This record gives sequence, structure tokens and C-alpha cells, in this order.
Amino acid sequence: MNAMQDIETPCTDREVVKVIDGVPTTDGAGVELTRVIGSPELNMLDPFLLLDRFASDEPSDYIAGFPPHPHRGFETVTYLLQGRMRHKDSAGHEGVIEAGGVQWMTAGRGVIHSEMPEQEDGLLAGFQLWINLPAANKMDSAAYQEFSRDEIPVETRNSGVEARVVAGVTSRGTQGPVIQPLTDPLYLDVSIPAGGAFTEALPVGHNVFVLGIEGRTIIGRHELEREKLAILGQGEAVSVTAGDEGARFLLVAGKPLREPVARGGPFVMSNAEEIRQAFADYNNGALT
Ligand code: FE
Repeated sequence: MNAMQDIETPCTDREVVKVIDGVPTTDGAGVELTRVIGSPELNMLDPFLLLDRFASDEPSDYIAGFPPHPHRGFETVTYLLQGRMRHKDSAGHEGVIEAGGVQWMTAGRGVIHSEMPEQEDGLLAGFQLWINLPAANKMDSAAYQEFSRDEIPVETRNSGVEARVVAGVTSRGTQGPVIQPLTDPLYLDVSIPAGGAFTEALPVGHNVFVLGIEGRTIIGRHELEREKLAILGQGEAVSVTAGDEGARFLLVAGKPLREPVARGGPFVMSNAEEIRQAFADYNNGALT
């Protein structure tokens, strides 16, 4: 786009540049989930490293949970729609994430934690997103930001549109409780009734995705069914409308880090030597 077009179109909508299907995956001790980022089709969307969607009312799909395992070098964000999940780490930090709540964990230099369903039946549904940390912050101390459903503000707009603001600030000034200046994330859970519309300004230069949760999420000529992810191109805003059944979706934006990424299972560092060191520290009991 040239400068003249910028002047003529001061507010350009971001358009869908690619739609990604989730890949059925088993992780942890045998949890069935759909991997939407971190798959062969979409390795990462800087700074987002991985996105898993889980939704099942079959206990055999989730009951095994995620027994103790380490992380280093990035953040894990667990947002629950239904059910209860208990987390516990080696430093004594423990709690239960309930429906509508979020746990935003900055693993930093290391945690060893478990994530286990706090239920033996019923529906367990939600998301886990991994967000990279800059190389300069990968060895920071671990930190948690945890908020229950009631602590996450809901912005109500015309015609029954609702946006739950987990992180970042909307164009109307609703501020989410999670603070992370390193990647400046926006994390919205938006519901639009049938035939409704939602438009939101987005930070220029951030990478942005939309993940369908329910109904039909329509962006331009693309219709997203549940669990399909749309990568948006550059621009200043996004406009979404809903199909006949309404729509619910995640709208997530983050500042790309543009740094080298080295992955080693539960560790995400900048190079192979740092991954080797993370495994060594874990095996020596020196991860945290
Ligand atoms: Fe974990």
C-alpha cells in the first residue's frame, strides 16, 4: 500500500489472509484436544507459539490431565469456558481455574506444574495459548496473573454484542485485568447475536487471529466454523458479523517479537544451547 492510499482510507479493515483447520492431537497423559497453532499447518504466529482448544463431555478425553511437567521461556494462558481445572506448581503455588476464568502464567526461567481437571464428569472446555517472551526476559522469575469470571470486565455494545476483555484495552476503553507490556496482548471473547456486527480497532503491526467458538463468525467473505482460525492481514481494525445462529469467537492480538525461536518440548528458547541447558537444569532439579 502506498502513502496516497493511506490518506484516502484512514481506517483500513484487516482481511483474512489464511484460514487454518485445527489438528486433532493427544497431549499430557492422554488429553484429546485440537491444536490450532503449533501444528504443521501453522507453526507459530509470532508471538503466539501454540493454541490448543479442548471441549469434551467425555471424561476419558480429559481425566488424565497434565501431570507434573516443566516450562521455561514463555507464557501459558489458560482460559476456561466450562468446567474446573486445578493447577499446582513446585513452588507451592496452587489454585483452581473455574469457568470464565483465566490463568496467565509467565513461566520465565522455569516452573514445574500440573494441570488436572477438577471434575470427574461433565463438560470441560477452554483454550491454552502459549505466548513467547523476548530473549531478554526468558530467564525472569515465574509469575502468575489469575482472574475469575467476575474479575473479567464485559463490554456490552448495541444489539446485544458482548466482549469479555481478558487482556488489553478496547477502543471504548474497557481494560482487561492482565498486564503484559512485553507483547502488549489483546485477548477478547466476543459474542454477537444473529445478524449482529462487531468492529474493533487493533494495534497496527500486531499479529492478529480470530478463532471461531460457536455459530458462524463472518469476516469479509470468510465464514469461520468452530475451531477454525483466521489469520488477519495488516490494517487498523477488524469487522465481524454473525450468521443466523449468532457467533462467539476469540479475537487475539500481540506484538511480534521477531526473534529466533528454538523449541524443545515444554521449553521455548532462542537457540539449541539454551534448550539443552533447560533440559539439563530440569534433570538436575535446577529449573526454577
Ligand atoms: Fe503446562
